Amino acid sequence: MRVSVDPERCQGHARCMLGAPRIFDLDDETGQSVVLLDELPGDLEAAARSAADECPEGAISVLDRVQPQEIA
Ligand code: SF4
Repeated sequence: MRVSVDPERCQGHARCMLGAPRIFDLDDETGQSVVLLDELPGDLEAAARSAADECPEGAISVLDRVQPQEIA
């Protein structure tokens, strides 16, 4: 599973970081959320989905990994 933050939407109020500090941090320069992990371990998947649901700007996307055989 992967997570991304849309910088066009993120307003930097840190709700994601407070709820899931192993996944999100705020960039010191931009004040926006950044994702700390390229690939999330299974134990963080629920926290990532919760952060996406609770982001008031709808800035967080959660992408399930697509298996190569599913693309064809
Ligand atoms: S909760 Fe959403 S808008 Fe707020 S800092 Fe996190 S990603 Fe950005």
